[in-house]
Amino acid sequence: MSFSPGTTESQGGAAASPMPASGPLADFERALTAQRDDAFAALGARFYTRLPGAPLPAPYVVGFSNAVAAQLGLDPSAVADPAFAAFFSGNFTRERSPSTMSHATVYSGHQFGVWAGQLGDGRALTLGEVEHDGARNEVQLKGAGRTPYSRMGDGRAVLRSSIREFLCSEAMHHLGIPTTRALTVIGSDQPVRREDIETAAVVARVSPSFVRFGHFEHFYSHDDVDALRTLADHVIARFYPQLREADDPYLALLDEAVRNTAALMVEWQAVGFCHGVMNTDNMSILGLTIDYGPFGFMDGFDANHICNHSDSQGRYAYRMQPQIGYWNLFCLAQALVPLFGAHYDIADEKKRGERVVADAQGVLERFKGHFAPALEARMRAKLGLEHEREGDDALANKLFEIMHANRADFTLTYRHLARVSKHDASGDASVRDLFLERAAFDAWAADYRARLAHEPRDDAARAAAMNRVNPKYVLRNHLAQTAIERAAQKDFSEVERLAKVLERPYDDQPEHEAYAGLPPDWASSLEVSCSS
Ligand code: AMP
Ligand code: MG
Repeated sequence: MSFSPGTTESQGGAAASPMPASGPLADFERALTAQRDDAFAALGARFYTRLPGAPLPAPYVVGFSNAVAAQLGLDPSAVADPAFAAFFSGNFTRERSPSTMSHATVYSGHQFGVWAGQLGDGRALTLGEVEHDGARNEVQLKGAGRTPYSRMGDGRAVLRSSIREFLCSEAMHHLGIPTTRALTVIGSDQPVRREDIETAAVVARVSPSFVRFGHFEHFYSHDDVDALRTLADHVIARFYPQLREADDPYLALLDEAVRNTAALMVEWQAVGFCHGVMNTDNMSILGLTIDYGPFGFMDGFDANHICNHSDSQGRYAYRMQPQIGYWNLFCLAQALVPLFGAHYDIADEKKRGERVVADAQGVLERFKGHFAPALEARMRAKLGLEHEREGDDALANKLFEIMHANRADFTLTYRHLARVSKHDASGDASVRDLFLERAAFDAWAADYRARLAHEPRDDAARAAAMNRVNPKYVLRNHLAQTAIERAAQKDFSEVERLAKVLERPYDDQPEHEAYAGLPPDWASSLEVSCSS
């Protein structure tokens, strides 16, 4: 297969619908093509393949985020333009110079703990980047056709997984968790074969960068130190310019990745989010949540919960995530080794090598120091404990233990804890009801109340603080599923409604109580796998 512009037609794409010459969409495309010298696209041909999109036939808008549009400086009225859906499904009709054409990047990675060799954007196309209000973001279409990195894949994404990615990236953002964003989902009736026949869709994702650990691993595995350095310099210049002053800027970059990844693991653990496929090619160098596939927010708490049906060994189970984040950082460190230690004046190669490895290990060792205290602080906040006291960790861990034993709903347990009073058991009922073993809960609640006696805040102030850290609304699987099923019937109102509810996850929204309830029985039979 060739990747000349002619492939657009050969991939069964739509006839080009004319792009308006003026108006918000045309302005946006012009802004997108104005790429700067320090953009990823300026790195050169070693890093990507330029190619056009393979647009979907008769595309329609399934979901749209006003907030992301605003962030990009895209006038939200653009969504009403008939060319909008065509454009974001990959139909770029405007003459583009080769230097501003969309591209798919190359990366490699470890999948399920095993070196997988070359991967790359098999179904993602970066359109370029836009600058608005001082922020620069890349815009990428996921599902816009085959690329040289598609391997056996069809270059497509299905409606189901595209809606899940759209909803979850926005939900994560509003929870305050670092993530890539999503501007829109475009659907089409074009059939796509997975386990069943589904239909195709494209998500337009937005991020300051889509660089993954796997990008570094790729050039390391090819012994291409020059490309490795070029890539690291790009990330440093764009995102961590202050690191250029460090003795070893590349070691300092690893240090940032360690810090950001540890912080991200705290966020995931604290809301019961399971990513599902923490392969090194799904790890963002900026510590963002990226590549939403078989993710899940836990309903009933199970520390061993595996959200990905394809993960038979449970490598990416909930309780494993921090450790896997650390493992993945090792892979990143390994890939960066050739760049480390340029500031050393050590002639002996072996000695120099040992010194460099020791440095890298020293930086990796900091992971635990970033992760554990931050998670402990977060768990204290979730329990409404303002000041640290001896025994707080044990109290938090004991709660985990009884939640696990009772499969108590993760989100509701913490949310309802805010109703517990420091004076008596009058407010216990709603959280207590989540535990089958009432005695176990009562014993824990007695310890909790004893601890609350040392809290200066009154019940109301503590509850308000807890409600700012314990979300009421998360993207439970069954909520996404309902939106997906309606969307498959061309009713997109539930995607919009759900997205709106998830914009305010910490607020009580009395009109949307049903979205905060326990999952229905059918939810337990929902399975999500790598197939997307
Ligand atoms: P993921 O598990 O979604 O992170 O994907 C792992 C690798 O497979 C990446 O290189 C993807 O681009 C590629 N891939 C996944 N699904 C497809 C598909 N339908 N067509 C082409 N490439 C795909
Ligand atoms: Mg991926």
